[in-house]
Amino acid sequence: MNTTTAISAGKRNNCKVVSVANQKGGVAKTTTAVNLGIGLAREGRRVLLIDADAQGSLTASLGVREPDLLEYTLSTVMGYVINDESFDIEKGIFHHEEGVDLMPGNIELSGMEISLVNIMSREYVLREYIELIKDKYDYIIIDCAPSLGMVTINAFAASDSILIPCQAGYLPAKGLEQLIKTIRRVKKQKINPDLKIAGILLTMVDGRTNFSKEIMKLIEKGYGTIVPIFKNEIPMSIRVAECSALGISIYKNDPKGKASKAYEALTMEIMDSCENGGDQV
Ligand code: ADP
Ligand code: MG
Repeated sequence: MNTTTAISAGKRNNCKVVSVANQKGGVAKTTTAVNLGIGLAREGRRVLLIDADAQGSLTASLGVREPDLLEYTLSTVMGYVINDESFDIEKGIFHHEEGVDLMPGNIELSGMEISLVNIMSREYVLREYIELIKDKYDYIIIDCAPSLGMVTINAFAASDSILIPCQAGYLPAKGLEQLIKTIRRVKKQKINPDLKIAGILLTMVDGRTNFSKEIMKLIEKGYGTIVPIFKNEIPMSIRVAECSALGISIYKNDPKGKASKAYEALTMEIMDSCENGGDQV
């Protein structure tokens, strides 16, 4: 048994739950969820991707043509949790050809947003579902909606950490502040006191400018503490943009390309942090 196997064997019962979140749309949340998830599966990890966005983009990106026609989705299981009904935890989960599992999401999640308002322990519905399936996975990655609504708060309540993709070209100062404030509130109000920010991931980087330092300065100025920024950045690549229509990852669409290498490096960075004692993620 080599070291890597030993580490992974030791971590088998310690599933990490990571939310990919930013209330701004189009910053590569879904793209990152897909390619991080499949990246981890390629390293032999058992991965569940959860689509927590009513737009169902993650579901569509993994090859489900019309997410809104699905009858059994994340909102179905959340409904069972709310009503305290028992259900088959394997039901509704898709197995993607590249080795990840998917709990799909669709338009029904917008109704869930409203249902959640008037129930007890409304922040913990998703967490309760995840507690039931956690043993089966090493990583659970939640693709959040571009909002800070109740379903996103449920994702934060269920997560160990949050990965924040940021499109490098547009420094989303205000948006980022609001997101970090919400994360702080989730911690302070004891919804999830141990929640961590895994880091900011710069996406769609065109290589000509250095945005990491600018973002770092901005965060320092606003909060006095540094929110970590991932070492690896994701370059702009047309080959990434093609993937969702094909229902495959960047590793399959362009195995030798720079974006594929970047997502692979990010996967290793996150695994290293999760499995080798780092407590960032
Ligand atoms: P979000 O989930 O935050 O809304 P998406 O992952 O859907 O963002 O990405 C938004 C758009 O940008 C999609 O069309 C996607 O294909 C494209 N995209 C994402 N990452 C890259 C990249 N590295 N290079 C080029 N296009 C990208
Ligand atoms: Mg998305």
